Amino acid sequence: MVRPKTLTITSDMDKCIFQPLGNAIFVENLISTKMERKVRVRFAPSPTGPLHMGGVRTALFNYLFAKKHGGDFLLRIEDTDQNRYVPGAEEYIIESLKWCGLVPDEGVGFGGNFGPYRQSERKPMYKKYADYLIENGFAYYSFDSAEELDELRKQAEAGKQVFSYDLHTRNGLKNSLTLSPEEVQERLQSGEQYVIRFKMPENRDIVDEDLIRGRVSFNTNQLDDKVLFKSDGMPTYHLANVVDDHLMQITHVIRGEEWLPSMPLHILLYESLGISETRPKFSHLPLILKPEGKGKLSKRDGDKLGFPVFPLLWKDPETGDISRSYREDGYFPEAFINMLALLGWNPGTEQEFFSMDELIESFDLTRVVKSGARFDPEKAKWFNRHYMQQKTPAQLSQLFLPILKEKGITPDLQQLERIVGMIQERCEFVKDIWAQAHFFFQAPESYDEKTVKSKWKADTSEKLQAISELFATVSEWKAESIKEAFSAFMTSKEWGFGAVMVPIRLALVGGSSGPDLFEICELIGKEETIARIRKACEKIVLN
Ligand code: GLU
Repeated sequence: MVRPKTLTITSDMDKCIFQPLGNAIFVENLISTKMERKVRVRFAPSPTGPLHMGGVRTALFNYLFAKKHGGDFLLRIEDTDQNRYVPGAEEYIIESLKWCGLVPDEGVGFGGNFGPYRQSERKPMYKKYADYLIENGFAYYSFDSAEELDELRKQAEAGKQVFSYDLHTRNGLKNSLTLSPEEVQERLQSGEQYVIRFKMPENRDIVDEDLIRGRVSFNTNQLDDKVLFKSDGMPTYHLANVVDDHLMQITHVIRGEEWLPSMPLHILLYESLGISETRPKFSHLPLILKPEGKGKLSKRDGDKLGFPVFPLLWKDPETGDISRSYREDGYFPEAFINMLALLGWNPGTEQEFFSMDELIESFDLTRVVKSGARFDPEKAKWFNRHYMQQKTPAQLSQLFLPILKEKGITPDLQQLERIVGMIQERCEFVKDIWAQAHFFFQAPESYDEKTVKSKWKADTSEKLQAISELFATVSEWKAESIKEAFSAFMTSKEWGFGAVMVPIRLALVGGSSGPDLFEICELIGKEETIARIRKACEKIVLN
C-alpha cells in the first residue's frame, strides 16, 4: 500500500486536517466533537425536476429521525450534474418542503454554519480530495474518450456482453495505470479531457449494517471503477456526496433503495480518505410501488392513472405540461404527510392517524420495512376526508371563500359557517363543498330527471303551490317554525309527507339529496324558497 501523505487543508470552507494514523489517515474536523455526535441528517435532492412523492417521503423520514433524536435536518442541493439541471426545480423543492412542514434547520435558503449547501458552490473544495485519492493510489486518471468507450460498449453488446470499466478491463485502457507518468503529465498539461476513476480493489467483501435492511454485503469484483471527478473541475455525485456528508458532519444517511448499490463505493471512499471513523450509518428506504403492487411508482403514473404524484403543481419548463399535485388537488399537507409516513413504516400498533408531533414521537427506523410499499390513491383520499372532518366550519369556510369569490359570490360569513357545518361530513376535499352546497348560493337551473319521473305526479304542482302560499304566511322564518307550520298544514290536508317532501327538495336544490329541508329553507330565505317552488312548478311540465 502506498503510504499516504499528510495533507493540510486551510480553506475556510472545510476546516479539516488530515492526520497520519499508522498506515491510514484520519481526518478530524476541527469543529466536530468526535465523542457524542449530535444526530445530523440531510435531504440531498438533485434539482433535475419536480420532487416526486417518494422524494418527499425520504425528506419526511429524515426529518422525523432528526427531530426524534434532537438533531438537525439539512437540505443540500446536489447539482454537480449541470447537464441535468432543470430551472425552477430547486425553488420547487424548497416550497414543497415548506408546504409539508418539513422545514430544514440548515440548507439552501435556510442558512447554517456548514454552507454553502449547494454543491456547485462548493466546487473548489472537491479537487483536493480527488488529488489525494490519486496520490495515494486509490484513484487514477482515465483519458479514454466518450467515443472510444461507446465503441467498446457496442463491441461488448455485439458479443452479448456488457462493457464495464473495472479491474478486468482497466489495464487494457488509456489511463494513468497503463501510461507512463511522463505521458500522463503531458496529457494533463496539454489540457486533454480526463476523468478520475476510483480504483475498485480486487475481491474484497464490503459488509455493513444497514439500519433498515440489516447486514448487506458486496464483493468488489462485481463493481466498476466509478468516475469521481471530471476535467471540468466538477466532482460526480459519489465524491461530492461523501465529502459533503463528512464535512457537514452527517451521522445518518437515510435515502432511497436505488442508492444501495452505491453504498460499497461510498464505504470505500470513506476508508480511502481515512474518515471511516466518522462515517455516517446507512439506511435505504423501500421503493414506493404502483397501486397494483408491481413496479416502482413513476413520475408518469399519476397523470396516466389519475392521481397526483407531485406535492405541488409542476409546469414542465420545456413542454409547458402541467402535472397534477397534492396541494392543487386540494389535499391538506397533514393528510399527505400522514399517508406518506405509513408508506413503508408502521408504528407497530393499530394507530393510523398521526400529527407531525405524534410521528416524531413514534418514528423508528427499525420499523421501516425492507420490501416495497404499495401506494393506494384511495387511502390518500381517506386520509384527506379524516383531516377535513377535523377542521372547524370556520376554518373550512376560510378555505372555501376563494372558491366562492371566483364565482362572484360574497357570502355572509356566519351563514357560510352554518352551511359548511351542515355538509362537512359529506366532503373529502374543500372543493367538494360547492357540489354539496351550491344551492345555498344559486337557484337550480335544472331538476334531476330521474327524481322528476318517479316523484313528480299530476297533482304535485297544485300541492306545492298551496305549500308556497302557506310559507308566505310563516312569520318567523326559522327551520323549526317552518317545520311546525308545514306539519300542521299537511295534517289538516291529510296529505302524505312522502308526496311533497322530495318535490320540494327538487324545487330548492335540483336533486333528491342534501341536508335538512327546513334548514335549507331558512338559509336561502323566505322569498327565495317561495320563488324556487313556484319556478319548479312552472318548469316541470309533465308529458
Ligand atoms: N442526489 C441524490 C438524489 O438525487 C442523493 C442520494 C443520497 O441521498 O445520497 O437522490
